[in-house]
Amino acid sequence: MPQKTKQTPMMEQYQSIKKQYPDAFLFYRLGDFYEMFYEDAIKGAQILELTLTSRNRNADDPIPMCGVPYHSAKGYIDTLIEQGYKVAICEQMEDPKATKGMVKREVIQLITPGTAMDLKNQDGKTNNYLTALVEGERNTFNLAYADLSTGELKVTQLSTQEELFSELMSLKTKEIVFQAAAGLEIQEKLRTSLGILVSIQKEIVEKEEDLTINVADPEMKNVLHLLLSYLSVTQKRSLGHLQQAEVYVPSHFLKMDHYSKQNLELTASIRGGQKKGTLLWLIDETKTAMGGRLLKQWIDRPLIQKEKIEQRQEIVENLIDHFFERTDLNDVLTKVYDLERLAGRVAFGNVNGRDLIQLKTSLMQIPLLIQVIELMNEKTEWSHLLERLDPVTDVVELIEQAIHEDAPISIKDGGVIKDGFDRTLDTYRDAMRNGKQWIANMEAQEKERTGIKNLKIGYNKVFGYYIEVSRANLQHLPEERYERKQTLANAERFITPELKEKEAIILEAEEKSLALEYELFTQVREDVKSYIERVQQLAKTVAEVDVLQSFASISEKYHYVRPEMKQGSQPILLTEGRHPVVEKVLGKQAYVPNSVEMDQATDMLLITGPNMSGKSTYMRQLALTVIMAQMGCFVPADKAELPIFDRIFTRIGAADDLISGQSTFMVEMMEANQALTYATPNSLILFDEIGRGTATYDGMALAEAIIEYIHQEVHAKTLFSTHYHELTALEERLPRLKNIHVGAVEENGELVFLHKMLAGPSDKSYGIQVAQLAGLPRSLLTRAADILEILEGKEMPADKSESYIEAEQTEVEEEQVKTEEQLTLFAFGDEKNEQIIKELNELNILNL
Ligand code: ADP
Repeated sequence: MPQKTKQTPMMEQYQSIKKQYPDAFLFYRLGDFYEMFYEDAIKGAQILELTLTSRNRNADDPIPMCGVPYHSAKGYIDTLIEQGYKVAICEQMEDPKATKGMVKREVIQLITPGTAMDLKNQDGKTNNYLTALVEGERNTFNLAYADLSTGELKVTQLSTQEELFSELMSLKTKEIVFQAAAGLEIQEKLRTSLGILVSIQKEIVEKEEDLTINVADPEMKNVLHLLLSYLSVTQKRSLGHLQQAEVYVPSHFLKMDHYSKQNLELTASIRGGQKKGTLLWLIDETKTAMGGRLLKQWIDRPLIQKEKIEQRQEIVENLIDHFFERTDLNDVLTKVYDLERLAGRVAFGNVNGRDLIQLKTSLMQIPLLIQVIELMNEKTEWSHLLERLDPVTDVVELIEQAIHEDAPISIKDGGVIKDGFDRTLDTYRDAMRNGKQWIANMEAQEKERTGIKNLKIGYNKVFGYYIEVSRANLQHLPEERYERKQTLANAERFITPELKEKEAIILEAEEKSLALEYELFTQVREDVKSYIERVQQLAKTVAEVDVLQSFASISEKYHYVRPEMKQGSQPILLTEGRHPVVEKVLGKQAYVPNSVEMDQATDMLLITGPNMSGKSTYMRQLALTVIMAQMGCFVPADKAELPIFDRIFTRIGAADDLISGQSTFMVEMMEANQALTYATPNSLILFDEIGRGTATYDGMALAEAIIEYIHQEVHAKTLFSTHYHELTALEERLPRLKNIHVGAVEENGELVFLHKMLAGPSDKSYGIQVAQLAGLPRSLLTRAADILEILEGKEMPADKSESYIEAEQTEVEEEQVKTEEQLTLFAFGDEKNEQIIKELNELNILNL
């Protein structure tokens, strides 16, 4: 075995630190670089496209190494984080110049996907949530989550795995913390199916931040402790800006599982996951990043309390009525920066002068905001928000007095603190300015005295201040006063005792002033920090105002109406409703509005009509309208009366099943089961072509049975679309079910969709015409028409109330039809056929 070279003390230090962070890239600070070694270097060089070198090139076992410059490290770190890795930042804790031997180094922060802030590809309107999970005694899932950049901290208890997965997908969390080995099976699922990074936090550390845990439930408390422990261990600094943990109960909001949200394209499109084409895309006219984030949360969790919905509606209406004030309000909001994230940065200790100026500018808008709102607050609809609009004047004044308007990015190079803020700083600055003035004067005097026009006083780091005289002019110099210091090619440099004396004063003042400025800045930052909670509260309120103005803007722009909300199982009356996104995409002219009418005696609409005629658009229209209404927004219709729903279940279109890779039909049945199990009379069920995923009679039988079950047992408001138009006969048996259909007409053999919902069942399914529209070959279409004729010739029983078993029998019959058809292919005469069939029947297969 080759002899291993003995490790240098530095590599020993590296190894001992790396050992504590085996699953992270260790960025080891070495002068102006962060270096990576060994495996980190090999992998890092590949991902970050860096040149891989080695530390001791000539040794037998060179150490692979690569590095990134300290000042541009952020971009590299972000790339690693965005790819799901962790990065441990290891700094020099001592000034190498002032230290003999090894410089002390420590990891000052472990950046992870769930704790990263200001990622380069992250837009301000998106939260980055770190989650933690503790499984409870009664098979509950206690879930806590925090956005480190905004200080948001929430905790909830979920009762099923579906709910858990749904919630995690809605939160779009990239990292989840478990305590040790608990829940291995779930960990594995989260990792493989959802691609979430699972982190383990073994010990619970008790910290002052635990004050934010004012939660009674012991299991929820545990999960909060776990989350905070991980944050404190990785961030290694105060988490003082975390807000009081907010317990959130899913049943206090309109519930939708993740698939429904996905299918309805609320915040991400089904294909590609973009914002474009989603409800969020349509209704987001927020002016602030905080507003943008809150809007997303509101879409994820519409309300279920009438008063709360109406409180929002009141304000939206009020804003629509005050066009000019709303314009002013928007102007003000545009000038408000991301207060939540600024507060987070203050707490984290990484604000600079410019951030504080942004904070000040933002806070200065608040009195204006209050003024505009007071002008509109005619019926006290705004009062609860006005109360919470706190201009935090003390912070404005402090920053105004202390921080320079044009503060530079760096907080160590001076120019941050204003004159007049601190007496000592002013004296240093005077000394510097006077000294510099004195030098300027001296230069003028010496020019005059010696008559040398190009004599100048300069400064460099090695010699300090010097007098420079060109070689040609040396002869005019009264030598006796100057001491020669440096000879250049065509000039000489000199110093004098007075010059050195002044230099000492200037340099000392400069050094002291920079140090003092830094100290003063950190003091200001600490002072601002004590107001963080107020700034966060304010941020929340501003966000709310912003979302409401966004509702008002879009409601006015697209002519939405205020829906009348009714608690309990009530009729739905939506006159001339529209699908808001399709309407925007197609344009108002091209869109055909459709009413949804379900009176007290109707629970279910059975929708028939050709494919591509607008059935699923109609169902989505209702779901989106309900969601918008329960968010407090106006809705796309001429008139709307809606019950307040507790839950929406959808089975629309084909959603890929990410979690288990089950077949579409299996997913369809599972989703149907969810709805049948959990729906209440206050729920909304949307089933689009249920049963399509299996054989015709299976599918039809299941569809019929599901309809019956919902009708008899569940009583939820239901829209059910189907292309089995045989099901329309159910209307005769099921009193709370009504048929509607989408109109289509054939003109000159071509099918024209009217996209209009009409009462009653459709007469046929137009499948072949749709195929024709899609451009299938003419010969194929003719053949399909022939087959259809044959099939339609074999009518099914007229009574559609047959049970599943009857349907199965019918399927057997259908098989026989097919066999007969195939036999006719042999084209024997009838007599011959009979003979063959007879022979076949008599055949004893076992004896062959
Ligand atoms: P189905 O569910 O019946 O197969 P879709 O609801 O998917 O049909 O609608 C098919 C297409 O028809 C949509 O992409 C849309 O462009 C158009 N469409 C649907 N409803 C309307 C409408 N009310 N007005 C205008 N176009 C519509």
